[in-house]
Amino acid sequence: MLDWYPRHRRDLPWRHTRDPYAIWLSEVILQQTRVRQGLPYYYDFITTYPTVHDLAAASEDEVLRHWQGLGYYSRARNMHHTAQQVVQEYGGHFPATYAELLKLRGVGQYTAAAIASFAFGEQVAVLDGNVFRVLARVFGITADIAAPATRKQFQQLADSLIPADTPDQFNQGIMEFGAIQCTPVNPDCLFCPLQSQCFAFQHGMVNELPVKSKAKAGRTRYFHYLVLRYGDTVYLRKRVEKDIWQGLYDFALTETDAPTLPALEVLNAVEKLGGTVATDRVAEPSSAYRHVLSHQKVEARFHPVWLSEPLPATTLATSGLAPFTAAETEQLPKAILIANYLQKTVF
Ligand code: SF4
Repeated sequence: MLDWYPRHRRDLPWRHTRDPYAIWLSEVILQQTRVRQGLPYYYDFITTYPTVHDLAAASEDEVLRHWQGLGYYSRARNMHHTAQQVVQEYGGHFPATYAELLKLRGVGQYTAAAIASFAFGEQVAVLDGNVFRVLARVFGITADIAAPATRKQFQQLADSLIPADTPDQFNQGIMEFGAIQCTPVNPDCLFCPLQSQCFAFQHGMVNELPVKSKAKAGRTRYFHYLVLRYGDTVYLRKRVEKDIWQGLYDFALTETDAPTLPALEVLNAVEKLGGTVATDRVAEPSSAYRHVLSHQKVEARFHPVWLSEPLPATTLATSGLAPFTAAETEQLPKAILIANYLQKTVF
């Protein structure tokens, strides 16, 4: 791995630094995200917030706006909180050990091991999907990698392999090896330096390993959005509930078990908010906008409604809705489904 890595690695910006902040930023962005998709976000964050102090001082809305499109927004909220924790509790310096790093919010075993080894040279092995795959194939491990108990077995194995003098190179190497050589589909076994010692290759089990049980299919939620417009403004609210997209902005929402919402119910929902509908100003709902999250699917339809008067102050106070112009709306952090709709339709 130590021989293979320097010759094959991709040139990525976070590989030229030992700054724990930059390494942490890249790791948070790259969780559940491909390098190609994450790279522009990394550049954007490191340029906008060059130090942990800059990120800590930003508003949550601003951070979420920069994150828009990456999904799994709790990562961004945790990241922002962690930056504040590092500034307040550690004087702006990331803790230098795996054990201390684990105390930071949103920093799990993988990220702690990555920072500890890449930035501080600690001999602790990282385990991500790539490492699981390489180890399962090379050592012929048939345990289900989705089962929590299996993690310990892999961690012990990886810890027994990692060298004391170059733990960072080993960790980077095995992850990169999984990403570009020992890929999930069509790994490059023909030109693989581990071919002669790889259990899966020797036993014709490359396509069977690693073993991973499938996650259960998620439920579908039906969102009906009231896109309330008055003059050149549209009403949005910040999602504060402990639910998906917390901290992001959307419209007044009615959630049901059915994909469609009859026009009469749309009018009832507007009335409940104290809205007065301008004559003939309820448009046809949009077609469905779909978004697949890890445990659920969202199917949203948007119902544009033009009001003849602004919403009453009591509604604004209780619902959190507020009027925004097109320019203001553009600046708000939004789920990508809302951003797509706005881009296509409203203004
Ligand atoms: S021989 Fe194939 S399966 Fe085995 S480590 Fe190499 S690329 Fe992966």
